[in-house]
Amino acid sequence: MAELAPFEHTAMDDIAPTCAKVRATFLSHKTKPIEYRQQQLRKLYWAFKDNEALIKEACKRDLGKPSFETYLTETGWCMNDCIWMANNLPRFAKDEAATDIPWTNKPLRPRIRKDPLGAVLIIGTYNFPVQLTLLPLIGAIAAGCTAVVKPSESAPHAAVVIAKIMRESLDADCYTCIQGAIPETTALLDQKWDKIFYTGGESVAKIIAKKAAETLTPVTLELGGRNPAIVTKHANPKLAARRLLWAKTLNAGQVCLSHNCTFVDREILPAFIAELKNQLRDFYPDGPRNSPDYGRIVNARQFQRIKKMLDDTNGKIVIGGTMDESDLFIEPTVVQVNDMNDSMLTNESFGPLLPILPVKDLDEAIKIANEIHDTPLGTYAFGSKSEMEQVMAQTRSGGASLNDGFFHGSIPTMPFGGVGTSGQGAYRGKASFDTFTHRRSVTTTPAWLEALMDVRYPPYTLKKQKS
Ligand code: NAD
Repeated sequence: MAELAPFEHTAMDDIAPTCAKVRATFLSHKTKPIEYRQQQLRKLYWAFKDNEALIKEACKRDLGKPSFETYLTETGWCMNDCIWMANNLPRFAKDEAATDIPWTNKPLRPRIRKDPLGAVLIIGTYNFPVQLTLLPLIGAIAAGCTAVVKPSESAPHAAVVIAKIMRESLDADCYTCIQGAIPETTALLDQKWDKIFYTGGESVAKIIAKKAAETLTPVTLELGGRNPAIVTKHANPKLAARRLLWAKTLNAGQVCLSHNCTFVDREILPAFIAELKNQLRDFYPDGPRNSPDYGRIVNARQFQRIKKMLDDTNGKIVIGGTMDESDLFIEPTVVQVNDMNDSMLTNESFGPLLPILPVKDLDEAIKIANEIHDTPLGTYAFGSKSEMEQVMAQTRSGGASLNDGFFHGSIPTMPFGGVGTSGQGAYRGKASFDTFTHRRSVTTTPAWLEALMDVRYPPYTLKKQKS
């Protein structure tokens, strides 16, 4: 297996010329032919395949990610997406006949062209470092855009592999990777873009949206968390515990869609907690620390942030609680909290903390969930059919999984995105193509129609006005 090269920041002086080159290539129309885009996607597929072992190694080093999780959530997904997109691209890119056209306008043959937006900037984050950076790139390539990609510096090994994959497979005049942190991203934001696609936290999203607003550059923002899970007294405690535990232990809880708090009906609380204990033993018979199937926190800064949430809580730890900074290990930790102002609920844990707030009934759970965050990225509900529908009817969120934790987010062809402060815009499947595409309305007025169009020309005689 090839060795992982060290992470190096791109020289600041190279940023503006690189972006100018990518823009110039877009303006040369090189990326317009569908066959060219398909060829780039297929080459990207093979680069994923060739570098599969290296991606696994990088994700292991960055996040202690189990290699099966890396396959499921990073390489496998990206490879499938390249092929799926290449195969479906002719269908997506074809002109669409416009619908609901008045019969008088039909001779104009109204249609919608699918034009690429232009040169785009994609800024990635660290938790699924490959997938969250390169799935948007697949959409940009498919749409016919050129792109600069900025992986997260918090997952430096994955960032190195991303650059390698792009270098080995893609046309360097069109698609380029810039490495760096805040200074490099700031320099990138100073360049001219036709779209900025950002995945990460809310506070940086505000910086990006503000900067983009100066030039009216459109943005897609894929943001975070503080998602509610609700378990009613009619839920199956074993099923709810198993599924919610899975959604908190995958990637050691570093999942934007993960539930940040679970509101549990008091009647079912003891059974639910007992089942969490059982399921945890079932997942990790020798304990999560000794398991090859449990990841680590990305770095010491995030470790300290999560630890502080646990230090600040007024709740009671009912499962777990151990941690070791030297190994960036945090045990899956269940905390029973007393009120909605607890630090565990007001912050996004983005880690393996599972606070539980006991509630008297479903109405109270919905009320509190809405007060904490009325537009989270995901909502999860366990209970009877009508209770789950009540949750859907009385809450808002980017997406939702009923009778599960964030499973809706694993369907590669379903649009994925937030609402309100959890994000704007969506991607994945056809939505990835759409997010980098301008739907351009086009008509063609036939010469023969002139005889019927006299009415639109001045002078607006009385005869014309009455016609
Ligand atoms: P991060 O530290 O990796 O930052 C994200 C990106 O922003 C990086 O590329 C980084 O270089 C850049 N950045 C950081 N500070 C910046 C600044 N001041 N100016 C310009 N760019 C800057 O990750 P993070 O922000 O800590 O990510 C965690 C958050 O991301 C969580 O809230 C999580 O819920 C959210 N997230 C959302 C999704 C989604 O798809 N909706 C996916 C994963 C994570």
